[in-house]
Amino acid sequence: MRIVFIGPPGAGKGTQSQRLLDYLHIPHLSTGEMLREAREAKTSTGQLVDSFMVRGNLVPDPIIMQMVGERLERPDSAAGALFDGFPRTLRQAQGLDEALAERGTPLDMVLELQVNDQEVMSRLAGRGRNDDLPEVVAQRLALFWKQTRPLVEYYRKRGLLHAVDGHGTPDEVFARIREAVDQVRSKQRS
Ligand code: AMP
Repeated sequence: MRIVFIGPPGAGKGTQSQRLLDYLHIPHLSTGEMLREAREAKTSTGQLVDSFMVRGNLVPDPIIMQMVGERLERPDSAAGALFDGFPRTLRQAQGLDEALAERGTPLDMVLELQVNDQEVMSRLAGRGRNDDLPEVVAQRLALFWKQTRPLVEYYRKRGLLHAVDGHGTPDEVFARIREAVDQVRSKQRS
């Protein structure tokens, strides 16, 4: 399966992604993780993206698309993907559609994890990543609503969107996610 996972920073996407990966056994395509690895390895891309990431700004689309394109070339991508933290802009969403269309492997569904801002702030307060400082979090949240949330409508129009309530315990949230995934899978089989 190919699933796009959308949600504000701190929505619990990390925890739920892991559960979904264990459930579906598909590769994890997290652009945030790929960028953090590039930064730690001090590659040229890593050095370039650092200034965007520490401020909570989005890394420019061409850099992201290049990175994702290379990832999709790897053989394990044939098994599917959980796109996590990507796409974040309409350009990235269109780029992903094109890349997947070229390969004849379209998206199966888009999961939107819905959590209110208050909950997000309190969850992020306990995390301690260097882009979790309050002013950086505020910037990341603002960008989420401005740049990324519009993707929900983009995917809704194409009939791919499944919204999931992200409040409650991790088990409760995952039960909702699994239900949405199972629904898509059983429709595809029938
Ligand atoms: P994340 O781990 O997904 O929260 O990403 C951490 C940071 O990496 C973000 O705040 C952005 O600076 C950058 N980033 C991750 N994914 C993307 C993306 N798809 N487009 C632009 N910037 C991204």
